[in-house]
Amino acid sequence: MKNTKITLSDSEIPEYYLNISYYLNKYLKKLPDPPLNPVTKQPIGPADLSAIFPMELIKQEVSLEEKIKIPEEVRELYKLYRPTPLIRAHRLEKFLDTPAHIYYKYEGASPTGAHKLNTAIAQAYYNKKEGVKTLATETGAGQWGSALALATNFFEMRLVVYMVRVSFDQKPFRKTVMETYGAEVFASPSDKTEFGKKVLKTDEKHPGSLGIAISEALETVVKNKGYKYSLGSVLNHVLLHQTIVGLEAKKQMKKAGEYPDIIIGCVGGGSNFAGIAFPFLVDKLREKRKIRFVGVEPASCPTLTKGKYEYDFGDTAQMTPLLKMYTLGSGFVPSPIHAGGLRYHGMAPLISFIYNEKLMETVAHDQKPVFQAGIDFARTEGIVPAPESSHAIKAVMDEAVKARNEGKKKVILFNLSGHGLLDLNGYDKFLHHKL
Ligand SMILES: *Cc1c(COP(=O)(O)O)cnc(C)c1O
Repeated sequence: MKNTKITLSDSEIPEYYLNISYYLNKYLKKLPDPPLNPVTKQPIGPADLSAIFPMELIKQEVSLEEKIKIPEEVRELYKLYRPTPLIRAHRLEKFLDTPAHIYYKYEGASPTGAHKLNTAIAQAYYNKKEGVKTLATETGAGQWGSALALATNFFEMRLVVYMVRVSFDQKPFRKTVMETYGAEVFASPSDKTEFGKKVLKTDEKHPGSLGIAISEALETVVKNKGYKYSLGSVLNHVLLHQTIVGLEAKKQMKKAGEYPDIIIGCVGGGSNFAGIAFPFLVDKLREKRKIRFVGVEPASCPTLTKGKYEYDFGDTAQMTPLLKMYTLGSGFVPSPIHAGGLRYHGMAPLISFIYNEKLMETVAHDQKPVFQAGIDFARTEGIVPAPESSHAIKAVMDEAVKARNEGKKKVILFNLSGHGLLDLNGYDKFLHHKL
């Protein structure tokens, strides 16, 4: 009998996160340029960040340790849904008539439906440990907000969420999920902050953007003593926590007796891609393994394919430190596509660095073929994928067809970052030709 699901037991949940900076430093002898203070243009120190992040996360942000231990309390919560399954997409392979072997790591198996909970639990834990009682954050599609709402609920903390207006309107049920876990949710731009009010003055129906929502969350933290801020992607510590995905996948691929030729993930801020890719990237750096890494982005927010590699702000009000990254400009407002989680003007500094070093490739796809790929996947594999994840699926299908045309057996691994059961508005529009 051929195997479809490759599972691991609770005790096989990794005990450490993998720190890619250690390996970049060791094998490339270089690291991404550091974040800068926007006024002095000097590299920022821990003190510059201590107003918004707990010290343990600041340490992780700059750590050059090879591994960082996952606290027992965090592993205990991971057991609710980890290890997530690795699934061989036999039916999709057959549908594409391809000799390629396609595997996906299913992060939609988390209670909130995406990979975001992996870092949400860790971030809530470290904040709680340092006495923080309230977190503020932004959310695009609502995946990050839902994950942090559940995580703060587990650690008995409060959460305030600024949700990008267009998603707030397209995905009203995500707000209900966040409120179910006890979070307070505002559509952004909101009238709760000075910056939100300023944006609303320019356009009272402004669709919002992640950059604007980040500014609102930061303003809230700066103005309320004892609040801290939490970010769902982009920063080194977030990518670090997501490596649990690739560490598990590596064990599972070994069980399956295969090793990937191509690893694919969608890229918004870069965290789910980093999560699946970094543990394998180590093999490329250390043993010169020939693996192709492909990040997939929306053609309407082409940060890597069309952006510039330069210092830019992480938010629209220009409150964050300057980050060296591929960026479309901190004022960029992407068109309201349905993959809300991919509508960010910048890219994680670590992913930007790796792309600039030509260790990964990137491809951009339009929304319609992406939805078609999502529907093909749902009809073969059963899971309705998140529109973000469908970007990865589109690229996977293209690679599998290429393998067929070249008559090559390729092993393709991708991160199915989340399910799309709260994204049905987009599916409905696509199916009824209203997209
Ligand atoms: C948030 C999200 C993304 C994009 O964020 P990354 O940090 O690039 O991973 C992708 N897929 C899903 C399902 C998401 O919720």
